[in-house]
Amino acid sequence: MSYTVAIVGRPNVGKSTLFNRLLEQRKAIVDDVSGVTRDRQYGLADWNGKVFNLIDTGGFVPNTEDIFESEIRKQVKIALEEADGIIFMVDVATGITDLDDAMADILRRTKKPVYVVVNKVDNGTRELEATEFYSLGFTNNYFISSISGSGTGELLDAVTAPITPEEDVEETKKDSGLPKFAIIGQPNVGKSSLLNALIGQERTIVSDVSGTTRDSIHTHYKLFQKEFMLIDTAGIRKKSKEKEDLEFYSIIRAIKAIDEADVCMIVLDADKGITAQDITIFSLAVRKGKGVVMLVNKWDLIEKETNTARDYEKLLKQKLAPFTDVPVLFISVLEKTRIFKAIELALEVYENRRRKVPTSKLNEAMLAAVAAYHAPVVRGHAIKIKYVSQLPTPVPSFAFFTNYPDDIKTPYRNYLENQLRTKFNFTGVPVRIFFRKK
Ligand code: GDP
Ligand code: GDP
Repeated sequence: MSYTVAIVGRPNVGKSTLFNRLLEQRKAIVDDVSGVTRDRQYGLADWNGKVFNLIDTGGFVPNTEDIFESEIRKQVKIALEEADGIIFMVDVATGITDLDDAMADILRRTKKPVYVVVNKVDNGTRELEATEFYSLGFTNNYFISSISGSGTGELLDAVTAPITPEEDVEETKKDSGLPKFAIIGQPNVGKSSLLNALIGQERTIVSDVSGTTRDSIHTHYKLFQKEFMLIDTAGIRKKSKEKEDLEFYSIIRAIKAIDEADVCMIVLDADKGITAQDITIFSLAVRKGKGVVMLVNKWDLIEKETNTARDYEKLLKQKLAPFTDVPVLFISVLEKTRIFKAIELALEVYENRRRKVPTSKLNEAMLAAVAAYHAPVVRGHAIKIKYVSQLPTPVPSFAFFTNYPDDIKTPYRNYLENQLRTKFNFTGVPVRIFFRKK
């Protein structure tokens, strides 16, 4: 399930402060477009197991009055198109401004839920003043202080009410439908070309399912006797001519495509290398428990010597660390090299992600690994792992039953993960490990 909430509001009302609070310690993806006054931010928020994408539309706001207003209108428009819920933030310290009114006019026309959030309500006096905002005419009004956090719990309860908790979603999604692959990457890396090459060479499209979801194009394929869906984010270029907006759209679309996919095919331009934004997209896919295949396109542009590919892959993996058990494929859409191999790899990763290791094999292998190297003794007590079980989730997850679950530290956790990866093939797939009290 993909649920996206956008925070809109004029500058200085406290959007960024709220954003950071809702994300707590989690690292935001910052859309670092050069020459802008402030960064747009994207992140993954989690409220009692209800997970959603959060966008702070802050972004670019030039100073001239008229451009200023039109920029803000554009932000609101994009938020309305792309988000499922909208937090409309206003500031009690300034009261209702003309710009607030203008934004309210646009927001009143949507059928999507709008939450009016009156910020900086730090004390009782301001609480009284905040009632002024009822006059904007929205049903959902919240008085909060982003700095202290007061009121944010109630707001989050409301905002996440339409969301199904992650665990329930995982249960219902299990084994439903065809493998879904998303082709994502920066503009101009060759995503459309790849899609066209796949379509053109083999007339294998079964049907075009557009409108399955609002915004990405789903194409149903049959290739290698396998059926799968390709989720394409390339088509969005037509929506806007402006670079700023295009990047905003494309990152939101990429985030949503990740949500819909089982495996993300992240396309890079060999000549340009991996960008900071590619890395954040990669980490997001991993955090969302999706399979990943890295496709280094335009390999034809690279002058090659004996070890070029090997060295390139090594450098790339250094940047992907700590999760490096990821397939990297060098392709050229132009010369049609290895493009079908890309689909084969995605199918392999899909299978890896679905792998269910029989309990007896799992225990045999992992208890041997535990016997070969025990978890370090903590505060004088030996840590014993007695039993391992794979949980019935779409993302391979393993519970290790132990006498002291809280005393097992990251290095040992990493050891167990590496052992799982060595003994069973989970290439391209994030693996989750839990320690539970025996
Ligand atoms: P944005 O431009 O809408 O993202 O606003 P910022 O998050 O950058 O905040 C603008 C200013 O308001 C900063 O100086 C914040 O410290 C301040 N601010 C944000 N939230 C609160 C709040 O709840 N109470 C008070 N008193 N100040 C706040
Ligand atoms: P998208 O924005 O990611 O969908 O990228 P496009 O598919 O539109 O490709 C951007 C540009 O890269 C176009 O001019 C393509 O012809 C070119 N291109 C795509 N694949 C290759 C490739 O394998 N090698 C080279 N040299 N150029 C490519």
